[in-house]
Amino acid sequence: MAECIFCQIAKKEMPASIVYEDEQCLVFMDIFPIKEGHTLVIPKTHGAFLHELDDALREHLFKVANAVLLAQRTAGITLDGANLLVNDGKAANQHVPHVHIHVLPREHGDIAKVAWTFLTRMLNFFGKDKKRAKLDQLARNISQHLPEKL
Ligand code: AMP
Ligand code: ZN
Repeated sequence: MAECIFCQIAKKEMPASIVYEDEQCLVFMDIFPIKEGHTLVIPKTHGAFLHELDDALREHLFKVANAVLLAQRTAGITLDGANLLVNDGKAANQHVPHVHIHVLPREHGDIAKVAWTFLTRMLNFFGKDKKRAKLDQLARNISQHLPEKL
């Protein structure tokens, strides 16, 4: 079976637009963002479900996710609120079976746009390099508004 893609990203075997990392976690931009600034927080160790992580790690991930949300705000990403979301299991719409917290900026009245992007975001395979450059730029911007150590 092919190795988990988020484990590969954590080991730097696969490219990612990295925002933050420490011994326990890695934060990077979602490659198919539902909204500009859509970020993922993952543990560096593999676990498919939240309950597989120990309490301290789970708490750390949410602490980092909260800091990422504050950084998105101060970095100037347009948001009136956010979804901090874990799809825990395939039945709950989890596509990558490695725990991840979505930090998804939201705006008042964006539901139709979000629903449309959610359905179509993976169809756009064009302009990958341009897309990566933009994600790298967003990652740098959010990163600059995070404390060095969390
Ligand atoms: P979920 O449906 O909750 O499992 O979310 C998985 C998320 O991972 C989706 O939003 C994907 O766009 C995102 N994703 C998949 N592959 C990558 C990747 N190589 N780099 C960054 N994000 C990814
Ligand atoms: Zn994994």
